[in-house]
Amino acid sequence: MAVKNLGQILVERGTITREQLVTALEVQKHNKIYLGQILIEMGISSNEINDVLDLYHKRQPIGQILIDSNIITFSQLKEALEWQRTTNKPLAATLLDMGYITKQCYLETLSKHFNLPIISLKEHTLSMSLQKVLGQRFTLRHKIIVMENTPKEIKIALSEPSRLFLDELQSYKPGPKGMEFYLADPGELEDALNYIYADDVYADNGKKLVIAPSSFDKIRPKSVYTEDIQTQRASQLLDNILDRAIEANASDVHIEAREFGGLVKLRLDGDLHLLKMPDDFNKEYKSIISRIKVLTESMKLDEKVMPQDGSFRARYGFTEHKKTIDFRVSSINSYYGESITLRLLDQEKANVTLPELGFSEEIYKKFSALIRKTEGLILVTGPTGSGKTTTLYASLNALLDPRKKILSIEDPIEYIYNDMVMQTEVKRARGVDYSTLLKAFLRQDPDIIMVGEIRDSETANTSIRGVQTGHLLLSTLHTIDTTKSIGRLRELDVDPVTFLSYTLGILGQRLVRKLCPYCSEEYDPDDEMVSRYFGTMPIDFPFVRGRGCRMCNYEGYKGRTILAELWTISDEELSKINNIGNAFEVRMNAIPNGLSTFYMDGIKKLQARQTTLDQLLKTVPNIEKERDMYKAMMYGKTEPEKLLRQVVLDS
Ligand SMILES: [Zn+2]
Repeated sequence: MAVKNLGQILVERGTITREQLVTALEVQKHNKIYLGQILIEMGISSNEINDVLDLYHKRQPIGQILIDSNIITFSQLKEALEWQRTTNKPLAATLLDMGYITKQCYLETLSKHFNLPIISLKEHTLSMSLQKVLGQRFTLRHKIIVMENTPKEIKIALSEPSRLFLDELQSYKPGPKGMEFYLADPGELEDALNYIYADDVYADNGKKLVIAPSSFDKIRPKSVYTEDIQTQRASQLLDNILDRAIEANASDVHIEAREFGGLVKLRLDGDLHLLKMPDDFNKEYKSIISRIKVLTESMKLDEKVMPQDGSFRARYGFTEHKKTIDFRVSSINSYYGESITLRLLDQEKANVTLPELGFSEEIYKKFSALIRKTEGLILVTGPTGSGKTTTLYASLNALLDPRKKILSIEDPIEYIYNDMVMQTEVKRARGVDYSTLLKAFLRQDPDIIMVGEIRDSETANTSIRGVQTGHLLLSTLHTIDTTKSIGRLRELDVDPVTFLSYTLGILGQRLVRKLCPYCSEEYDPDDEMVSRYFGTMPIDFPFVRGRGCRMCNYEGYKGRTILAELWTISDEELSKINNIGNAFEVRMNAIPNGLSTFYMDGIKKLQARQTTLDQLLKTVPNIEKERDMYKAMMYGKTEPEKLLRQVVLDS
């Protein structure tokens, strides 16, 4: 059967007449543009044409369009596709980020690919009330703008189209109206959103940090200490510190007292980095500390000996991005004076999704299937700072559903969710702890419950009761790996067999630094490192490291990803738990039953060139023991190749 071309199909479907096709083909002879585009310019509905393109797989891939027009090379495309796997951004946006295409080219290519007309937002009147057609929260979240709402159709501007996204938008249209999409410059769109949603706080569109009073700690009255020792300069310096912390995506800011003033450090991807401050910083040190305390409205200025804590909220608004950040403040009195640590809680992180956390494919699939069950316990384990809470948030995000009642108990509430999750906070000082809240929850007819952490027997037992009455309960347990949960439960005076019999699965996780994709290179690691992980040198194994480049601040790493293990306990394993004393035997027994370990995940992450051997040696718990265990399990066949083969086979 001959392959039909787009023109023929459109004529047969009655979308266009034969005459229209002839005209369009005539135009095409003189211009190098796609037929679809010409037809749209002739007034044929772009939705119709898009449907046909998708139905008959006639759409030109973006990479193809760019290579055909000699804009990028094949190797650039390959590099971008590789990079895209880690960013999950659309290809065109990735190419734009990498500087391989210009903004103009970005727009033209997407316009060709999706057959969307380009629109200049500057020439349109934009209004906030129009956004209500689809819901303001929805439009802000998806970065789209409703341009017009006529009785016939809704006109929408967007700048990061994908087929899936456009389809999703179509499904949101109210009533039988049509929806027409227009492509806008990403920067212009961002400006326009800023403009539409501008309120007093955002009035200044320049890059500026505007400190707003805290929404937390409302219980305590406003500070009565009015003694104003903060100076204009101190508040400037503080703005500058916070500004740089947000820009660098730091998780914490440390402001530490020293003999002649102090210093500032930022925690980036797990490590502290010194922030260079202007000369007058030392002179202003004490005023900066006071300024922070005043912002919290709850910390006492004249109390310098007792540790204190508080929080404040800042809105960080500039043209590219705009977000709300909460700072959790804690002060201690050190030898040279007061030191303060600020934890940054970026509200956008409440929107984090499971796929973007970086789990390996296999673990991601299994874990997503687990959280979709309607009853049972799901535990995330790991030490402090291993990203457990973020995984819980991402899991809840995957489960958001207006038909479900979702309740969460947190200590403290870090990110404020949308209205679909009812969040509560532990307040020990007032006798409100995890188990009190959990008991109350069970009377609230919930579907899904998130408990920040199980750290006492009462909470553990109440959790079981919750599951018995048919709920899905997600929580965390503070342990080194999944199988050590047994010991942890015993410590809490909880019977592990009963508890685990209601447990659907236990996820263990660690954060490892992600290899910088811009400067990674193969190398031969030293034998000692290899033997610590593998025993002997595996053949043909791609060991990679980051050389260090501008993109990664010459560190060779950029961002972090998750190293994980997942344990779904079988009945057979459960029956053995009380007879096995040693945590390692539990592991030995669990691996053939499907426990995918940190150790194995590490090998996969190495193969996928996502991290380095160095990182794994720092992160995987009990490496040597794990290595030897795998060796032993292979009946003495110790060659690492066998191990690798196994990894490749089951992935
Ligand atoms: Zn680099």
